Order: sequence, then structure tokens, then C-alpha cells
Amino acid sequence: MTQPQSILKKYFGYDKFRSQQEEIIEKIVSGRDVLVLMPTGGGKSVCYQVPALMLDGICIVVSPLISLMKDQVDALKANGISAAFLNSSQSFDEQQAILESCYKKEIGLLYVSPEKLIAELGMITQMARPSMFAIDEAHCISSWGHDFRPEYTQLGMLREKFSHVPFVALTATADKVTRRDIAKQLRLKSPEVFISSFDRKNLSLDVRTGIKTKEKLQEIAEFIDRRKDSSGIIYCLSRNNCQDVAEALRNYGINAGFYHAGMKAEQRAKIQDDFINDELQVVCATIAFGMGIDKSNVRWVIHYNLPKNIEGYYQEIGRAGRDGLPSETILYYNYADLTMLNKFAAESSQSEINLEKLKRMQHYAEADHCRRKILLNYFSESLEENCGNCDVCKNPRKHFDATVLVQKALSAIARMGQKEGASMVIDVLRGSRKAEILNAGYDRIKTYGAGSEIGGIDWQRYLMQMLNLGILEMAYDENFALKITQLGNDILFGRRNAELTLLQPLPKPEAKAPQAKRTKVSNPDEELFNRLRTLRSRFAKEEDVPAYAIFSDATLIDMVKEKPLTEQDMLNISGVGEHKFYRYGQVFLNAINSFSEDPSKNQKSDTYRDTLNFFHQGFTPEQIAQKRDLSPTTIYSHIAHLYIQNKIQSLQSYVSENEIMQVKEAFAQTGGQKALKPIYEYLNEQLPYPKIRLALAVLEREMQPI
Ligand code: ADP
Ligand code: ZN
Repeated sequence: MTQPQSILKKYFGYDKFRSQQEEIIEKIVSGRDVLVLMPTGGGKSVCYQVPALMLDGICIVVSPLISLMKDQVDALKANGISAAFLNSSQSFDEQQAILESCYKKEIGLLYVSPEKLIAELGMITQMARPSMFAIDEAHCISSWGHDFRPEYTQLGMLREKFSHVPFVALTATADKVTRRDIAKQLRLKSPEVFISSFDRKNLSLDVRTGIKTKEKLQEIAEFIDRRKDSSGIIYCLSRNNCQDVAEALRNYGINAGFYHAGMKAEQRAKIQDDFINDELQVVCATIAFGMGIDKSNVRWVIHYNLPKNIEGYYQEIGRAGRDGLPSETILYYNYADLTMLNKFAAESSQSEINLEKLKRMQHYAEADHCRRKILLNYFSESLEENCGNCDVCKNPRKHFDATVLVQKALSAIARMGQKEGASMVIDVLRGSRKAEILNAGYDRIKTYGAGSEIGGIDWQRYLMQMLNLGILEMAYDENFALKITQLGNDILFGRRNAELTLLQPLPKPEAKAPQAKRTKVSNPDEELFNRLRTLRSRFAKEEDVPAYAIFSDATLIDMVKEKPLTEQDMLNISGVGEHKFYRYGQVFLNAINSFSEDPSKNQKSDTYRDTLNFFHQGFTPEQIAQKRDLSPTTIYSHIAHLYIQNKIQSLQSYVSENEIMQVKEAFAQTGGQKALKPIYEYLNEQLPYPKIRLALAVLEREMQPI
């Protein structure tokens, strides 16, 4: 094991690094600057936390997310890592106490907000000798990014001041331009750039177009109803919207709250805490929500309205499934949102960039090929195969010759003088008798009522396609009037044909959302999972830390799957490091054991019986592990247990007399404990763990009174 690997296991309880993590760590430790681009949930923190534990001095972590600092620090402490934070939310005395412990070298990582760091740079770096700087959410330094924060720009001067320590910039959102800008603004010294794939395979992508508000709410309520206990976020465009949607969902009996920047700090904190602690199932929020949320088991994200750009959208859906388990995302898209967002963008200060970004967003929402390809493309990555996990892949689009249909619309637009917006055009095509139409005399034009066989919503979707294909343009500065482009004229005058995508009846979300997706555990295991979750909440409350800081959902699911019986089994669970094992291991082991021994569950004896059957059929433990989708360690512990229970006669072919004698001696010499590690070490790491485990079982059976 390399040093970084053993730190990963000891402190974080993980067996392997994810792709690139180890190389990044090596580079930092060797003193290089690095720029890390990884999607949300990719595992950025480990990239600087492990070096922080290897290097002398204090790792200064710059983060704009004051609300997140406490949670991040709590999570580190839960892993037995000394960390602290400094920001304006603390009293003078608190800050002094922290600086004091930095001075006494009691702190490994210090989280600090950019403004605090700059304002008190001298003081901080005098008390805390920096070993490295980690700049989290580094895209905030670039005005090209979507979340520019002026207080970040001052960080540029740090690089020269601390020329001898490595700098690490990390971000989850960066198009090519922003990427280059981050390195430039932070003045990184020939940084090694690591770009992970932005593909989040565990997130399903779904876009639903042209659904009326009332149906939308009903659909969302049904969606949530089928996913009891699984938390999610609904992003809304406006503050009022958040409140209305939350209210509507509560009327459906759903445990929903709302969150936006217009609320008091305490109210916001309460919503966040309740959500993180699984006490609030759904939060309806503006995009202000989420930056400060590190909750790994968000199982779905819904966009109630079209987002402004793809970066934001990708970051928001990225808040789902950070634990790597399958999670769902839905984007609702309609004409009215598009019109409004266009108006905002056109009136904004960087209108050109913002309009272009919105266009790309629209392009995504309108896509008739694999959506993931478009997303990844946006981040300069390409995907060979269609993803199979987006609505287009699941439901491929068909095209048809729409020349006549398009001509009808264009003709109406032309005859109305190209000065009306979509809704008026649709009313004319459908032959509406609204007063404004009659007053304008539009009932006398030739195409009046020529499209009455097509519904209003469908017309909207067709017009949207025509905009996307460049047949029409929208004049945002003329009340959103539709204008005919050159291409449109060619079609209108019969010089070209037009092809559109066939509108499909929108599939109901329930048709493809099995409840079991929520977690990988099956029914009887679900009960154990829930018990472990309750236990986790109890600890989280007692210690006033977020639930995930105790164990992540992924770790609980691993426990449910492996059903660890012994300390060693527990240490093998992904996410159980030494410190957490010491704090919580025994309690969780007891909970699992008492659940398994409950005769009404009878699961454990089933699992032993299954292993025993395979064993009798002559399979090796490794083969049994593979067949049962369990770890070999678990199978060895089953075999040991079955041997002690006299269900297996002999272990001769697995462990020799000589080996048993060695273990016996080591056992006596290391204090007569059944823990495997001391024995393993006593025997100079020569005898593999499975053999030690089986030898101990032989010794135990020998000692049993017959
Ligand atoms: P990011 O900051 O990139 O959004 P995090 O650092 O919060 O992501 O990591 C996301 C999740 O993945 C966390 O629960 C973290 O503990 C877990 N994780 C990180 N590295 C590993 C690893 N090597 N093996 C297993 N889980 C990991
Ligand atoms: Zn796809």
C-alpha cells in the first residue's frame, strides 16, 4: 500500500482511490500546482485532504461557502482529522481560540472565506504555517464563470507571496474559457491540469415539454409520492414560485419546505438542517439553495422552470446522487419560461454572453438526440455511445415532412406583418374568436383557422422547433414578435422542404420509475437500512453534525449488503475508517447483529445456508463471493461461523496445521484478542487475513466445551 492509500483507508475508510485522485495527490505532495476539474460528487475534497495529512504545516482551504464550512469541518473531525474554520460568523474570541490552536500545531486543515483570508492574511499566516493552499469553487474567480465573486479576485496575489507551497484550484464547473481564466487569475505556476469526465452516469436525464402548471404540479406530486422517504430538490425561478410550489405539494400531503435568498438567515438555516438530517423530504428553492448543501443522498432534482445556462443546470442536477447511487433528474420546459428568460438575458449587463448561454440551454431542452452527449459536449467532452439513461435514448424521436404545417405558420406570421408573438399567431392559426383578434381584423387573413386541427400546446412545441431550426427568429426587443428568417422564406415559397420532430405523447414519469431505484436494497433489507438510518440520525442529532458526516447512504447500503459480524468485517465496509469504527462501529455492529438474529427476519441464517450450499457443491470462497455478489471477506466469515457451528466438518484444505499453530502463538502473544490485525502484524504480514480468520475459527471450536 502506498502512503496515500493507507491514509485513505485509515481516515476515510475507502479501499481505492477514484480515477485521478492519487495522481493529483502525488503532484501536490511533490510541490506542483494543480487545477482539478471534477463534477460535483466526483471526490474533489480527498484530493487536498490527503496531502494535507501528509505535508508539514496547515492546509489553508479557501471556500466561499460559509454555511458549508461547519459541516465540512464536522465531517473531517468525524474521520479523526483535526480541522477548523474561520469566518465572519464567529465571535472574536472564537477566532482567537482557533488561531491559537493553529499556532500549537493542533490543526491540519483550516477552512477560511476569501474575504477573511485577505483581510487578516498577516495574522492568519503568522499563526498557521501554510503547507499548501486549496482554492475550492475556483471558478468564482473568473468573470467568465457563472458565479463570479469579486472577493475571489484578490486571491491572485497569494501565489507570489507564498512561492514555496503548492496551490490547488478545484471546481466542478468550467467551460474551456473559464478553465484557462482560473489558472491565469490565480497565477498558478505551470499547473498540472486534471480534467475528470463530467459524466455522471448515475443521473438519469429527463426533459418534459409543454405541460400546463396544474398538470405539472400533479405530476410532481405523484412522482414524489412514489418515492417515499427519498429526498429531492425542486428548483424554481422566483421566490414566489418556491412558496407556491411548496404550498401546493403540502396540500398533497408531502413534507415540503421552501428556501430562497429573501428569507431570514435562521429560517434558511432551519430548512437546510432539516433537509440534511432527512427531516424534510422536499425543498422548493431558487438557485440560492444548494451551494451550501452537502447531502450525498439527494435522490432526485426537478427543475420546475428552464435554467439560465447549462453550467448552472449541470451543477444543480449534480446535487443528486453524490453517493453514486442511481438518481433521477427532470427538467420542465415551456415557451413562457423561455420568453421570460430571454427578456432577463437581453436586459442583463453581459447580455451577449447570457443570451448565447440561454440558447445552448434551449438547444439542450429541445434536443432530439442523446441529451448526455450534448451536455458532455458542452464541457468539451465527447461520448461515443448514446447513454441509454436519458428520455431521448429511452424514447427515440421520429421526424416527418412538415413543409405544409410550417408553411401555414409562416404564412400567418407574414400576413400579420411579423409583429405578433407566438400566442397571437397560435390563436390565429386555431381560429380563435378572441376580441383582440377580431379587432385587429386577423380573422380575415387567409390562414385564419388553417391550423385548427392542432392543439395550442402542440403548436407551441412546433414553433419552438422552428425557432431552434432557424426557420423563425424572436425579436426580444419588439415584444417577442416572431420574424421569418431567410431559411423560413425559402420554405414559405416552396424552395425548400421542412422536417420537424414528431410530437409524442409525453410518457408519464411513472412508466419508467420503479420504486426500487431509490436504493439498491431489496425489501427485507430495506428495514435494516431504515434502522441504520435511524441510528445515524440519532448520532447526528446528539453530536449536532449532518447525518452524512456519520456515514453516507452508500456506506449504510454496503453494511446492509455485507451484514458485517465482526470488527474486521466492519472495517472492510467502504466508508468506515478507523476513527468512525472506534466511535460508531460497535453500535452499528450490534444493530446489524440483533436484526439478523431476530428469528422473524431469519436473514442471517438464510445467508449462511446459501453460502453453505455453495460450499458443499465444491465452490471456492472466491467463487461463492462472486456468485452471491458479496465480498470474499464476508464469505470467509460465513465459513468460519459455519465451522464453529459444526455445520462444516473440516477446514483442512484451507488452512494447514502449521498455520493454525502460528496463529495460536500469535493469538496468545498479542493479548488473546480475536482482532485479526495484530495477529497479521505479529506474523510479519506473511499469513493472509482469510487464513487467520479460519485458523481462529478452528481454535475457537477446539476451545468449545463439548
Ligand atoms: P465533490 O467535492 O467533488 O463534490 P466530495 O469530495 O464531496 O465531492 O465527494 C463525494 C463523495 O464521494 C463523498 O461522500 C466522498 O466521501 C466520496 N468519496 C470520495 N473519494 C472516494 C473514494 N476514493 N472511494 C469512495 N468514496 C469516495
Ligand atoms: Zn442518452
